[in-house]
Amino acid sequence: MSIRPKVLYGEPEELPEERYDVLVIGGGIAGMQASLDLGNMGYKILLVDKEPTIGGHMFKLSKTFPTMDCASCISTPRMAEVSHHPNVKLMTYSEVKEVWKDGEGNFRIRVFEKPRYVDPSTCTGCQECEFACPVIVSNEYDWGLSGRKAAFIPFDTAVPRIAMIDMDNCVFCGQCERACPADSIDFLQRPKWHTIRVKTVILATGFHLFPIEKKLEYGFGKYANVITSMQMERILAPTTSWHAIVRPGDGKEPSNIAYVLCAGSRDRTLGNPYCSQVCCMYSIKQAQLIAGALPLADVTIYYMDIRAYGKRYEEFFQQAKDMGIRFIKGRVAKIEDMDNGDLMVYYEDIENGGRLSKAQHDLVVLSIGLLSNPEIAGIFKNAELKLDMMGWIASPDENVNPVRTSIPGIFAAGTAIGPKDIPDSVVEGSAAAMEAAAYIEKVRAVKPVPAEARSEG
Ligand SMILES: Cc1cc2nc3c(=O)[nH]c(=O)nc-3n(C[C@H](O)[C@H](O)[C@H](O)COP(=O)(O)OP(=O)(O)OC[C@H]3O[C@@H](n4cnc5c(N)ncnc54)[C@H](O)[C@@H]3O)c2cc1C
Ligand code: SF4
Ligand code: SF4
Repeated sequence: MSIRPKVLYGEPEELPEERYDVLVIGGGIAGMQASLDLGNMGYKILLVDKEPTIGGHMFKLSKTFPTMDCASCISTPRMAEVSHHPNVKLMTYSEVKEVWKDGEGNFRIRVFEKPRYVDPSTCTGCQECEFACPVIVSNEYDWGLSGRKAAFIPFDTAVPRIAMIDMDNCVFCGQCERACPADSIDFLQRPKWHTIRVKTVILATGFHLFPIEKKLEYGFGKYANVITSMQMERILAPTTSWHAIVRPGDGKEPSNIAYVLCAGSRDRTLGNPYCSQVCCMYSIKQAQLIAGALPLADVTIYYMDIRAYGKRYEEFFQQAKDMGIRFIKGRVAKIEDMDNGDLMVYYEDIENGGRLSKAQHDLVVLSIGLLSNPEIAGIFKNAELKLDMMGWIASPDENVNPVRTSIPGIFAAGTAIGPKDIPDSVVEGSAAAMEAAAYIEKVRAVKPVPAEARSEG
């Protein structure tokens, strides 16, 4: 999910250089944690996110395992704290394009800020432009399950809560401009280039969702009632507009739901041999939420192994069984749709001799894996950011310092390093903040050698 305008009007504006102590790239839970820790220590932070709002994947989730806390209720106050922190400057809808290490121990950064076509200094977030806009397109924040306008605020709890205009779909009717009470619509807004100087950088660029349409046998994108687990997060979340568990094909309330685990993970045919670590647990979480919301519905989880590896995770798994959720050990081979929109799931029934079996369900949820975000390595112009063989950021010291990278002064945190859950992402955000602070103090303590002394020596 990403809003990437195809059209950018106007020559970019070049802004004067700004200085901070730390650049944090990525405003998910790991990047927010790192920014808050460093801001509280008194360092000046620039937090850049390519999306129009910070929050990453977490604020779009329903609840979090195993405590079942509301994800939005935990992440929204943190997003607000970041945006109001006196030592943290937020730059959203902006992409870090280049990073150089200079000879003075600083990093010089070029950031490209895309135009929102709305003046952020005057927009009050009242949504009048959105109400007036006649264009409705698919809403990427609900993974296509709902619609949004061409003039829109990405999310109710977006931070910053500023409207924007999607130029790819705008028909230039001018209704938003007439409706805006703050006169904030600016069709002539230009992109901006920011030049930044910092002492250290934290990469918290997170993960991509596995593009499960690649697994043709599962029919995602072809069968309306085969959905992803991220779509199910939105269906179950209290922050959606429809407040009902219905299947997308015909709006029917499902009564026999299947989960297919390891969809896009531990699958060499897709070039993805590793375990995504969170899919077992989030599927068990979703199954429990469905059991609570639809007590008469059957929920079946097809799995290879259940990896309930964390504190209170095994108990959470046992609790799901006690609630009547069925667990069938077996890899799903293929899914076929039926005339009434139901799905036939073919699977290898391992506990019954490994024979091929089939079962009918009225909704199938694919528990998709986490994919690395290797594009970040391309921004380094005079140093090499090493990635592991699957594209996650590699540490030269993985066992004792996982947040260190191959470039001194550049640290990483969260799912940018590898698949993990929210608590571990938060811990790494704090660890990267501590490493960054220690690095700044070490660089400050080393007195620069004067140029004359260098040439004499
Ligand atoms: C369906 C699903 C359900 C889940 N449920 C749970 C759960 O219940 N409990 C749990 O503990 N975990 C759960 N997880 C895992 C959880 O989502 C992750 O652990 C967490 O979101 C990782 O946070 P992060 O900050 O590392 O990355 P992200 O949330 O991916 O944030 C990365 C941020 O970086 C930004 N970014 C990326 N590239 C750039 C760039 N080049 N420039 C600027 N910005 C950039 C992105 O826009 C994003 O805001 C679930 C995951 C999935 C897929
Ligand atoms: S000008 Fe574009 S964004 Fe504004 S109301 Fe018309 S279609 Fe919507
Ligand atoms: S109407 Fe104007 S002030 Fe209100 S959200 Fe839209 S752009 Fe912002």
